[in-house]
Amino acid sequence: LTTAEQDVLEQIESKGVDFLRLQFTDILGTVKNVSVPARQAEKAFTEGIYFDGSSIEGFVRIQESDMRLKPDPETFAVLPWRDKEDSAAARMICDVIDTSTGEPFEGDPRYVLKQALDRANEMGYTVNAAPEPEFFLFEEDEDGHATTETNDHGGYFDLAPKDLAQDVRRDIIYGLEDMGFEVEASHHEVAQGQHEINFEYDDALTTADNVGTFRTVVRAIAAQHGYHATFMPKPIPKVNGSGMHTHISLFTEDGENAFHDEDDEFNLSDEAHAFTAGLLEHAPAITAVANPTVNSYKRLVPGYEAPVYVAWSDRNRSSLIRKPAARVPAASRVELRSPDPSCNPYLAIATMIHAGLDGIENDLDCPDPVRENIYDFDEQKREEYGIETLPSNLSAAVDALEEDEVVYDALGEHIAEKFVEAKRQEFEEYLIDVSDWELERYLEKY
Ligand code: GLU
Ligand code: MG
Ligand code: MG
Repeated sequence: LTTAEQDVLEQIESKGVDFLRLQFTDILGTVKNVSVPARQAEKAFTEGIYFDGSSIEGFVRIQESDMRLKPDPETFAVLPWRDKEDSAAARMICDVIDTSTGEPFEGDPRYVLKQALDRANEMGYTVNAAPEPEFFLFEEDEDGHATTETNDHGGYFDLAPKDLAQDVRRDIIYGLEDMGFEVEASHHEVAQGQHEINFEYDDALTTADNVGTFRTVVRAIAAQHGYHATFMPKPIPKVNGSGMHTHISLFTEDGENAFHDEDDEFNLSDEAHAFTAGLLEHAPAITAVANPTVNSYKRLVPGYEAPVYVAWSDRNRSSLIRKPAARVPAASRVELRSPDPSCNPYLAIATMIHAGLDGIENDLDCPDPVRENIYDFDEQKREEYGIETLPSNLSAAVDALEEDEVVYDALGEHIAEKFVEAKRQEFEEYLIDVSDWELERYLEKY
């Protein structure tokens, strides 16, 4: 056993952990877990825990279904919402191993991100990322089902008594801190019942792991308070949806921020500009991965602080990429504003990395920033500025993904194929559904 693995065994002992939840993520970003008695920890480290991959979305067919989970000891954390007195439970995030080859399984999103990080490493970089997940808190009905009734009537940065969610948010933050998060800030978002909690940036793999954990903790603790927390991108029409803006920066091997340059007008290095150019170039294809649901596209419309147009800016929030003010050189970064919290964070961050590195490798030219409110531009003005539009629905986004070799390849063949197949099917199902909007509009009229 490694020292980190040894350390986990000691913590299991000292914290009275009875059960271990071994977690991994399916292609659609859902966290899955297998629970094993804690005494199996050593075996999990040495041999791995076998499971049937055929029941996991997008993994494998029945006849080739044996998979093995290999826990990453660095991700050990005791679950805070369980009764710690009697029997504590802890989780570890796992890599998925293909038992027939003993190699990492290509359908494991975590592996896809690791490969993106390997490419960055080969180019001399490490990658840091930080997400800004937003979510809604809704009331539950008598049967415990989620409604779209918001639990408060607060607005941006409001305080109690309007912000009734304060207590819930506070408990969520305690829960996150228990699980090792460095929470930076939390506030009420623009819409009623909408919240945002920011946590400290970290290396990209840890950040992707954190997003899954974050969603689990937020939902579990909200449920303890009798609320349903949702990361659905646009639960209520005509008010702001929930984004998951993702900040990203490259560091050099000696720990310097490769995105910082004091002499540049925007304090951004040539690499940062080329990385931005890569993100802009591949933005339509990234959208399929960063905005993977039919509902995602109801958020990406003008007027609700979500991006629609492919442009960057050093201030303006209507653009796709923003360069937030950095107080210290280490904080120089670019912020992609399109991702939403329904995405698979491993895949979304992996495609962003590949797109940006492609910009650096091919020395792509970054266009000028657009400082005006692009929502106000008409088509002609957008054309003048050379501003493209993001795909307007899931089907168009999947088309863009299939046309973009860099982003498609970023997913690896296995995941790319399964992802496209699953998303095409999702869109088909959506197309043949008859919505409430249609019934309201047509049922009595015709
Ligand atoms: N909720 C907005 C979105 O859909 C973002 C608001 C903000 O700038 O934080 O992306
Ligand atoms: Mg926000
Ligand atoms: Mg932001």
